[in-house]
Amino acid sequence: MSAPGIEMPDVLVTFGTDFPRQRERPLREGYGQSVELPAVIDIVVAIEAGTITATEARELLLRLAGQLYDQWNLREHEQHDDLLAWCVRDGGCPDCEKYGDRFEPHLDALAERWLRYNTPDEYPFTAGRSAGLHETTCPVVRHTMPTEWSRPVGEEYVQQRRLFCHRQNLRYGGTEADFEFELATTTDSGWTVMTIEETRVWEARHMGPKGGRKYRRCRRCAPTP
Ligand SMILES: [Zn+2]
Ligand SMILES: [Zn+2]
Repeated sequence: MSAPGIEMPDVLVTFGTDFPRQRERPLREGYGQSVELPAVIDIVVAIEAGTITATEARELLLRLAGQLYDQWNLREHEQHDDLLAWCVRDGGCPDCEKYGDRFEPHLDALAERWLRYNTPDEYPFTAGRSAGLHETTCPVVRHTMPTEWSRPVGEEYVQQRRLFCHRQNLRYGGTEADFEFELATTTDSGWTVMTIEETRVWEARHMGPKGGRKYRRCRRCAPTP
């Protein structure tokens, strides 16, 4: 590394050994990184000698931290809240860029589910994440569904889109197959609201190889598709 007035080739920086609780901060600012002590001493000597200023020394060290940060892709390990705050501050981030295209299909899926949920005559059965089958009007389903839903607009849209994109990053590396799975099964409260025909297909898929049923029928509503 170098700065005006100082040349320091091959400074050794490592990551992942020391995380001093007393000086916790974003990884971007060097948290979790360690610089070899001789290099730090030489920087202090250069400040004493007046060849570089303290500001230049700080910038030099932060630049060093930034190089390792990019090289090791440390952004992935930042705190969720920090990433969110920087995204608001900067008006966007790599997560929002990467997953933004998924938000509209996600909203379409929520809208479709909401419509189905509110038309239980046409969509009488609802399956949960862990393959439990209910009537759509069952209190168990009702309990975890929102009481109101509408497609977000304006600032609400911006906020929900941001949260959605950042959550995608938390959950997976982000393959399309994962996303399809997410849309089909776990969006919102995780319910899949179905017609009678869809329920029969769903049932067939949850039959065990020996004819045993791998799903559970809710005891409360006792659905009979
Ligand atoms: Zn973002
Ligand atoms: Zn039920």
